[in-house]
Amino acid sequence: MRIYSNMHTHTSFCDGKESAETMVKAAIEKGFKSLGFSGHSYTPFDDDYCMSLEGTRRYRETVADLQKKYEGEIEILCGIEWDYYANINTQEWDYTIGSVHYVKSPRNGRYYDVDYTYDKLDLCIREGFAGDVGAMIKAYYDNVIDMACNCRPTVLGHFDLIRKLNMGNRFFNENSPKYLSIASNAIEQAVKAGAIVEVNTGGMFRGYCDTPYPDDWILKSLKKLGGSVIVSSDAHVRQSIDYAFDDIEDKLRKLGFKEVKELRKSGFISTKL
Ligand SMILES: [Zn+2]
Ligand SMILES: [Zn+2]
Repeated sequence: MRIYSNMHTHTSFCDGKESAETMVKAAIEKGFKSLGFSGHSYTPFDDDYCMSLEGTRRYRETVADLQKKYEGEIEILCGIEWDYYANINTQEWDYTIGSVHYVKSPRNGRYYDVDYTYDKLDLCIREGFAGDVGAMIKAYYDNVIDMACNCRPTVLGHFDLIRKLNMGNRFFNENSPKYLSIASNAIEQAVKAGAIVEVNTGGMFRGYCDTPYPDDWILKSLKKLGGSVIVSSDAHVRQSIDYAFDDIEDKLRKLGFKEVKELRKSGFISTKL
């Protein structure tokens, strides 16, 4: 393994299962050089997976204490996973992961998550988009494009999360010209905007998909366009903190990547593959 860092880490302040300190200890055990916390930003319309406003304050204090306690052992960064529909002050964080988890229905103005349950995604398509799955996909990638080009997070999170519940093309055909064209355009825009794109193994660890986000063909296209990637596990438990990093390094090498980014206190560094 060449990558000794994970900048996408959740804790019990949001939907993670462990304390922040447990995740720090797991990272040190793995020999990590840095660990970035990325609690879910507060979304007022859906507050059961994200940090509360009060919890966000305590999260920041807790991470600051851990930074002091483990100084010299590991670099700890206090970041946030910035949902597209959340309001945050980017200045308050060491870094941001810009993530799209919802689409907004043009019919009723409601927010529907695209990564929670099969039933909820089904409802999103039927009720939110009158059964027009193409329109839902377009709305998702429009949000991704806006996140990359206008919100400009430090890292662009799980680019094609919309695939999470789509194993076996359950809701849409990932090989259809329409899907390929919408997603191709989005990756082009993101790379043009200079986005550092996350290669995220969270869906693999949880058994939803057998490839990381984004899918291989998107990574290939990103490589061709000259884009950069950073590998993360989107860890919610200590066991997954470096999940499949070896396999992903292999995959990226095969796709022609010579290096990946890693995040440190001083900013991005490049790690040779
Ligand atoms: Zn996410
Ligand atoms: Zn996450």
